[in-house]
Amino acid sequence: MSIKTRILILGFLATFFLSCAVGFVLWSEYRDKANKQALLSGMEKVERLSALINELQRERGVSAGYLSAATDFARTRLQSQQADTQQALRRLRAGDSENIEALRELASTQEKVAERQMSLTDSFAWYSLAIVEILDQIEGLEKNANLPALKRDLHAHLHLLNAKEHLGQIRASLTEFLARKDQAPTHGLARQVGLHRYHARSFQQDASPALQESYRATSESPAMKSAFAVVDAVLRCEPVDRAADQWFSTATSAIDDLGQIENQSLTDLRQRVAEEIRLSEARLWWVSLTAVFVSLICLSFVATSVHRLVFAFGRLVASIRQTISTSDFAHRITPAGDDEVSDIARNFNELLEIAEGLIEEKDRLASTDALTGALNRRKFPELFSHELRNQSEYAGTTTCLSMIMFDIDHFKQINDGLGHAAGDAVLKEVAGLVKSLIRKTDVLARWGGEEFMILVPNVGLETASQLAEKLRLAIEKHAFAESIKVTVSFGVSEYHAEDTLETICQRADEALYAAKSQGRNRVCLERIDPLK
Ligand code: GH3
Ligand code: MG
Ligand code: MG
Repeated sequence: MSIKTRILILGFLATFFLSCAVGFVLWSEYRDKANKQALLSGMEKVERLSALINELQRERGVSAGYLSAATDFARTRLQSQQADTQQALRRLRAGDSENIEALRELASTQEKVAERQMSLTDSFAWYSLAIVEILDQIEGLEKNANLPALKRDLHAHLHLLNAKEHLGQIRASLTEFLARKDQAPTHGLARQVGLHRYHARSFQQDASPALQESYRATSESPAMKSAFAVVDAVLRCEPVDRAADQWFSTATSAIDDLGQIENQSLTDLRQRVAEEIRLSEARLWWVSLTAVFVSLICLSFVATSVHRLVFAFGRLVASIRQTISTSDFAHRITPAGDDEVSDIARNFNELLEIAEGLIEEKDRLASTDALTGALNRRKFPELFSHELRNQSEYAGTTTCLSMIMFDIDHFKQINDGLGHAAGDAVLKEVAGLVKSLIRKTDVLARWGGEEFMILVPNVGLETASQLAEKLRLAIEKHAFAESIKVTVSFGVSEYHAEDTLETICQRADEALYAAKSQGRNRVCLERIDPLK
């Protein structure tokens, strides 16, 4: 798999996992908010069920009174209470009472009580069971509430409902006892009192300080004090001068006091949940915005990194391929920045520079005469063509250049007389002297042995011959080592249309030959064929 494919896959995976992480964070925040909203509707359900418990508790007491003594007052109160209970039942929403079996029998139970076809014990048991079932339902809500911060408050609330229920049972038991006074209250009363106190204590332990304070104030209220004075007296088997109706009203006031704390507790709970929902919403917004912002930054970073890497690699590979295929070592890759790929490009450029230098050096060595430092004959055709091309480009059609060919006179004698090394020294010195006297644009080449050729651009025959004469005189006058006397013969030709290197050199060679023939140490010009 190519690195480009790997980078693209990595980019895709990074984007995918980033999206998953952002999605998970948003989903969990949204779920948290949804849980709280479910809890809020649960709180409203608790409120409706609590109101129904209140009515059932009242109806249980009123029914007990009516079943004990069916006075007109008791009947009227029963009818009114039964209507209130039905109204509380109707306020329930679909699903509020789905696990509360007893509520389906409410109407028939109310009828049986009204008809006095139910014993007081059965009626008490039925209402108590119904209330226990509703409390179970509320307890289920408390257990499922997915909000740890509210767990303790909900737990306290449930204890308060139970304390109130047990006070309701105490009210009903004592209403029956005070109405009939034909038997001592059962040990059930002591159990109910114990359970009431247990739940009241538990409520005080778990409730918030404000609710604890309210409870303390309520327990000091006249209704509560008076109700428990009666309860304590009955439990101690002391005489109680309180009619059933009076007791019922006192106990009802005490229960109503607890009901007020219950309302306060419910309001607190609802406010807390509503506040939590508001915080969740704010957090959801904040998290969403942050997630979108971070995602955009990460995605743009991933996208630009992947694009840059792929682009930089692609350009690097293409540039290297181009350099190799064209053998153009002067080509350079432009580094894109400060990354590693640019480092590779820079290093590759350095290698190209080294290679280019080596090639230039190789070319220079290949085109230079090692002894004299002048160009060798191999390079000459290239420079001649270059000059012709240059002149045709910049000077129009008329080409102007000359060739000066020169040869050291009787060089063999120098070799023979003074040795090959002295001959070499003379060759070097003559080449150096000539080079110092010609223009930079003139090209000196060693033609072979002790023969040299000078390409003189933009110069005609006459000026070239003057130059040759200047060179001849300079060499003749030059003081060579070991006082060697050196003279040189020159042949000069100029460029004519249709000339090639061979033809122009040929005419210079012929002129040189003429110079030699005419006694050496002289300059001869090319012979112009008068017929041409
Ligand atoms: P002419 O005036 O007719 O040119 O006479 P000449 O002696 O110069 O010419 P000839 O061709 O007879 O001799 C050239 C000599 O140059 C022969 C050869 O050994 C010598 N030679 C050629 N190349 C070199 C070289 O690189 N170094 C030395 N020392 N001698 C060389
Ligand atoms: Mg010679
Ligand atoms: Mg020669």
